[in-house]
Amino acid sequence: MDAAIESPDEPLRPASEPLADIDPTQPVEIAEGIWWVGHHLEGDPFQCHVYLIEAGDQSVLIDPGSALTFPDVLRKVGQVTPFHNIRYFICHHQDPDITGALPLIDQIVSRKDAVIVTHWRAEALLKHYGLRLAFWRVEDNGWLLRVGQHSLRFVFTPYLHFPGAFCTFDETTGILFSSDLFGGFTKGFRLYAEDEGHFEAIRPFHEHYMPSREILAHGLARLEALPIRMIAPQHGSIIPERLVAFMIERLKELDCGLYLLVKQESDIQKLMRLNEVMQGITQTMVLYRDFASIAPELLRLSRKLMPVSSLEFLAATDQASPGEVLHLTPSNRYRGQMVVPPPRLASFIGIDRQGWAEICPTDYMVVDRWPVTGPAGEAADHRAIVIPLFAPDRQIATAVAVMHLSGETEAEDCIETLIHQMVLPLQVAVERESIYRALDLERRNVYERLIRDPLTGLFTRVCMQDTILRMFDLHDRDPDGSIAVLMIDIDHFKSVNDEYGHVTGDIVLRTIAQAILSGIRRADLPVRFGGEEFAVFCPGLGATAASTMAERLRTSIERIEFEPPVGGRRVTISIGTAIRRRGEDLAALIDRADHALYAAKASGRNCAVTAGDEGG
Ligand code: GH3
Ligand code: MG
Ligand code: MG
Repeated sequence: MDAAIESPDEPLRPASEPLADIDPTQPVEIAEGIWWVGHHLEGDPFQCHVYLIEAGDQSVLIDPGSALTFPDVLRKVGQVTPFHNIRYFICHHQDPDITGALPLIDQIVSRKDAVIVTHWRAEALLKHYGLRLAFWRVEDNGWLLRVGQHSLRFVFTPYLHFPGAFCTFDETTGILFSSDLFGGFTKGFRLYAEDEGHFEAIRPFHEHYMPSREILAHGLARLEALPIRMIAPQHGSIIPERLVAFMIERLKELDCGLYLLVKQESDIQKLMRLNEVMQGITQTMVLYRDFASIAPELLRLSRKLMPVSSLEFLAATDQASPGEVLHLTPSNRYRGQMVVPPPRLASFIGIDRQGWAEICPTDYMVVDRWPVTGPAGEAADHRAIVIPLFAPDRQIATAVAVMHLSGETEAEDCIETLIHQMVLPLQVAVERESIYRALDLERRNVYERLIRDPLTGLFTRVCMQDTILRMFDLHDRDPDGSIAVLMIDIDHFKSVNDEYGHVTGDIVLRTIAQAILSGIRRADLPVRFGGEEFAVFCPGLGATAASTMAERLRTSIERIEFEPPVGGRRVTISIGTAIRRRGEDLAALIDRADHALYAAKASGRNCAVTAGDEGG
């Protein structure tokens, strides 16, 4: 047994200054006989601390932890005192990161007098674990527990953040085991707060988790009355004596909970509506990935608070031509379209934070008379709110949102609150959208590279197989349909190569391919079939139309004026046309077109022959 416990006259060493060089794989003595026995979660900003008050066979484990962390906690406890020495398991509230280990503890504790120390409100939930362990209610025991030299005073801090939450103050050492209060998010493991800067780790934890400023102030007032010499929270870092007063003062000043939403707002209906909208925004961001889904949802939600007629976005993208931006608006169903924005709006895109601060002190700008041009060209004025969207990791606004209003808003503070809440989701949504667009473009480029022949830009034969077969399938089921194929071969192309070399040959080849591309319809499918051979599949073309088209292609190529060195020389093509018979397969159709092409070559080249006519 600890010598200090055997000699009650000698006061225990008080909470000390932080120890340097902490090894989180080992128990850490934070004051005499009081140990940190938590599990160090690698790289986790949400560290969960467990504390042990070593008091012989009356030892206390504070906030035992989760099933995840318990094996490590058990090992660390064992290094300080045998586990069966623990009689009291204090649970400050019911969260699983505090109580998840209880079923395991229930199995390994053999002593009959071991108890869970908690408030009835937590007991009401914890009993659902179906444990053998008995409950020891703080409120039934005068809010006090004496173990060895320690007198543990329980302080009720209801709704911080759980209805039955309380803290434990060790009057002997001056340590406040504060549970979620004074908790924080830290970058990895940091057992002791180093300086005042730690408040920034505490701030978000309280701003968003604590229900209201009044409730927080109530809890803090009760704790402030105690002679606290160290605060040991369940999350974040231990606060040493020199920082205790500072952290309490700062927390007292902190805005949190619903209060944060609308300052001086007492209308509970409005608060509830606001809260509902805020929840809606969060859910929207979680549920939807696609901007075309997010934007209308945000528009719908903002309409619950303000008369928003429309919500549009302009975003800079890598794919834009100079001066153009991506315009996402309800009229293009937020699918986006490239536009040249009006100069006033354009000036907001690319603005840096400093530049924005110079023209506007708030996150958004209310423009009282926003000129728009209606469908009939008439000008109309209305109010609009312009919100620059700064990319999270950049100082530059990469997009602007414009919220058009159709009437007076209820209150300015409502606008401020709504926009304050919407800015981040909007930034994320727009940023996400531009990333998806870039990825999609890249994907399409890769696909295009696969299916297009790099020299001519025509489709490759292999990749078009499926498309051609689908075209045939449609044809087979459509009694009125027809398909023509034009096999095209450059005349005496070998001699072009021979005379001017391959590089020039390539240029001629590409020029002819381009002429073919511009001479066909959108529905036609141009394929580079072989070296200087092309095929064009033309759905809907019958024999007459096909030979007209072949003739048009032939003359257009004959007329091409090549640049030197080819300059002056005419390059011609021969064409074999075939009209698909219903049910005919690709090979048979090509074979007939080839025959026609052969006939065209045989009859002197620079001409078109239709299959079936070649014999004549
Ligand atoms: P014909 O009128 O009978 O079609 O005569 P031709 O010379 O065009 O026919 P042939 O099949 O004898 O020669 C085709 C030539 O096309 C041979 C080859 O060097 C050339 N060729 C094929 N693919 C390419 C290419 O990608 N670039 C270049 N520069 N030449 C190519
Ligand atoms: Mg050839
Ligand atoms: Mg040829």
